[in-house]
Amino acid sequence: MSSLSPVTPASPDIAQELAALIEAEGPISIERFMGAANAHYYATRDAIGAAGDFITAPEVSQMFGEIVGLALADVWQRAGRPDAALVELGPGHGTLAVDMLRAMRVAGFAPPVHFIETSPLLREKQRDQLPNATWHDTIQTLPTDRPLLIVANEFFDALPVHQLINTFTGWRERVVRNGIDGFEAAPGEPTKYGEVPPHLRHVDPGGIIESCPMARGLIRAIARRLHDQGGVLLAIDYGYDGGAHGDTLQAVHAHAYADPFARPGTSDLTAHVDFAALAGSARAAGTHVAGPVEQGQWLIALGLSDRAAVLARNAPGRAHEISEAYRRLTHPEEMGELFKVMAVTGRNWPEPAGF
Ligand code: SAH
Repeated sequence: MSSLSPVTPASPDIAQELAALIEAEGPISIERFMGAANAHYYATRDAIGAAGDFITAPEVSQMFGEIVGLALADVWQRAGRPDAALVELGPGHGTLAVDMLRAMRVAGFAPPVHFIETSPLLREKQRDQLPNATWHDTIQTLPTDRPLLIVANEFFDALPVHQLINTFTGWRERVVRNGIDGFEAAPGEPTKYGEVPPHLRHVDPGGIIESCPMARGLIRAIARRLHDQGGVLLAIDYGYDGGAHGDTLQAVHAHAYADPFARPGTSDLTAHVDFAALAGSARAAGTHVAGPVEQGQWLIALGLSDRAAVLARNAPGRAHEISEAYRRLTHPEEMGELFKVMAVTGRNWPEPAGF
């Protein structure tokens, strides 16, 4: 999971650095642009929450993390209560980890916590919440002597995507160049036909296909660990399961969509997660995959309604807020349908509940 950034992530003017790089070396891939812009963005901005650019499920309500924590505690119990570690990829403010651990403690499970986080700024926020966690830049340094219970919420969508565009002169890599008014996407060098998956070759000229080599590599490495050490991965993100979805690169700034090529480093660049591709990589490494299922369905299957009722009973003054959060997490027009949950299960481990 090395950074693709060709430049210093926290340099004061990432746009200027990228423009200079393109000037010197020619157009750069969408993947390199997105990687550099996001590395800068997460290193310099606290993006999550009402005052930031976007809100994530753990920030909507404590119920989300509690349900995820209970799902992991349940599978840990069914695996025979081994000495296992909790791992979170891209923990943001640390809210999800805190809520998971509270629910896990009720089930008699208090695992050591390992965070994969590249942003120094977010590491500080996480340290305020969980001073005893261990931080890693990549998964390579995670413990090798125990099962790993790994959670990733809105993490894979932040990893840089590679794009190909079909033109009248064949498939080309999609690149970013310096235009008159700033950065612009354009078809780049021809790509080898073999790089275009056979089931996507029919796409009309102008059509774009995406892949996320970093996500696939990471899933492969995680699956190998789960296969060898035991444990599970729960990946929760917005995305699709199969088929081609064209260009899904998007930018969000101050809770509104923005132009992904304008002002890199100031907005959150994401792409929809291709769950079928991730599942394929995990299966190839010998692990079992469950889902993806829709987030709303999964949370409800695991008892979100009961949890909401208990919280509202204990704090009647917050009943409206709790039912709003429930709706936000589960309704098909909110996060309920677009967000999906997929589990990867190591050898001899039971499948988590809810699939
Ligand atoms: N999971 C949190 C935060 C999601 S935002 C939540 O649900 O609220 C994405 C998180 O992934 C941030 O913490 C960001 O710093 C981290 N991140 C993004 N790219 C990363 C990378 N390549 N390696 C490690 N962490 C990364």
